[in-house]
Amino acid sequence: MRDLPFLKFLPASWQQWLPSWEGKVLPLVVCVFVALFGMDAWHLWQVYDDSIEHTGIVTSNMARSMAELAETTIKTGDTVVASLVENVEAEGTGPESLARIYRLMTQLAAALPAIHEMGFLNERGDAIVKSRLPDPHGINYADRGYFRFHATSPDRGPFIGSPVTSRVDGTVNITVSRRINHPDGSFAGVVVASVSMAFFQALFDQVQAKSGGAMGLIADDGTVLVRSPLLPGTGDGAMARTHPLPRLMSAGTLDYPSRVGGIRRLGSFDHLRDYPMATLVSQSRQDALSGWRTEVRTHAIVLICVMIVVAILGRRVAKANRALEELAMQDSLTGLASRRFFDQAIEREFRRAARHGRPLSLIMIDMDHFKDYNDDHGHPAGDECLRAGGRVVQGCLRRPGDVAARYGGEEFAVILPDTDAASARALAETMRQAARALSLKHARSPIGVVTLSAGVASMAPKPGNAAGWQTLVQQADDALYAAKASGRDMVKLYDSASARPAAVPTAA
Ligand code: GH3
Ligand code: MG
Ligand code: MG
Repeated sequence: MRDLPFLKFLPASWQQWLPSWEGKVLPLVVCVFVALFGMDAWHLWQVYDDSIEHTGIVTSNMARSMAELAETTIKTGDTVVASLVENVEAEGTGPESLARIYRLMTQLAAALPAIHEMGFLNERGDAIVKSRLPDPHGINYADRGYFRFHATSPDRGPFIGSPVTSRVDGTVNITVSRRINHPDGSFAGVVVASVSMAFFQALFDQVQAKSGGAMGLIADDGTVLVRSPLLPGTGDGAMARTHPLPRLMSAGTLDYPSRVGGIRRLGSFDHLRDYPMATLVSQSRQDALSGWRTEVRTHAIVLICVMIVVAILGRRVAKANRALEELAMQDSLTGLASRRFFDQAIEREFRRAARHGRPLSLIMIDMDHFKDYNDDHGHPAGDECLRAGGRVVQGCLRRPGDVAARYGGEEFAVILPDTDAASARALAETMRQAARALSLKHARSPIGVVTLSAGVASMAPKPGNAAGWQTLVQQADDALYAAKASGRDMVKLYDSASARPAAVPTAA
């Protein structure tokens, strides 16, 4: 990770603690994937939250507006009822007075489309005047809840009844009624106005057609007074249905399973301040999140494309890295293992030998008088001679675990795992003879052909002696030095006598 350019600004002391990703493409690609995926998931989560919040705001605004409208409409009905009560009490129930009340009722009904009907009932519940029937004789409402309430309660305030189905035309309405008193305060009858649910239905249908979703007016007992769009299988007002939600008091938002198809709905409700009902505006979760879903789909496609591109690039980089690594592990001139490969192999083999308690041998080889060879034949011929030397060294190896490397310049190194000193020495001797047998002319060599010298060292490494391989290299090098010092074209096995004296620094 310390190889990442954007982490280069960190102090060196911090960087050393980070793992190195040099050449490791897969973790990098995985990190890019995780980062991309994480960022996108976070963004989409925000969009999801915003969509839900937006739906909450829109539906609660609509629920409040509809509640306000329902409240005003019912209040208008109550105002009408209060003025009619005053009229009846002031002018009595004589024929002229009743005719005037009928005229007043028909005028108000024409002016107020939300009021379905108005009526005046006597103390026995008989209809005396009805805005929709010029002669309501014989219709009795003594069984209605609002009538029974006013007959028994001296309260002069408005009474909002539960929804009722009209006996005149079968429509569903809610009633607003007040008590009429005789001058002595005794019960004289009731004035009632019914607020048309069909009016709300038409209004809700209009709004719903523009906004989508669903809108409802629900009584506190759970009766669905109005629902737009109409629930399947219900007629006007959906009286047969009761809402599955708990009482919708005050205002708030909901996330609930719908009875229609079992889909989840997001919605807001708002209870009317003075009347026992609430509005509910909702949207299916699916619709509320449709924009979010589109974004998820688009992002997923883009992300997959980006990931494919990153994966392809990553694969190519990994392949190129592998090729580079292989190149770095091979010496281009001789085709033998490179010095880099040698350094890794000797350390690995040293550890393995220590683990298994087996001997490890090393041969260091150096061409004799090679500088002179170059001088006489030129560098290209020198190169060719080096290649031939490399072929000789490689050609003498018999076991797959043996490693022949170009150690540097005209020097070769051979790692021989599980090989004792005598066998290593014998192998080095074979190499020496094979090189000589090439009979490559070398005028300035004492014997007239190219020769090589070799130093052999062998060890049975001890476990835990991790740095011991450097000693093995040093010993083989010392043995090589001894071979050179003894006249060249020979193999020397390391012993303490062949150890080179420590270099004495020369004065500048
Ligand atoms: P000695 O017998 O003591 O080893 O003598 P030497 O001349 O071989 O020793 P030295 O190490 O001083 O010289 C090594 C020479 O090998 C120097 C350089 O010109 C030559 N050499 C090193 N690498 C290459 C190479 O890749 N190609 C060629 N043509 N020559 C190389
Ligand atoms: Mg040399
Ligand atoms: Mg040499």
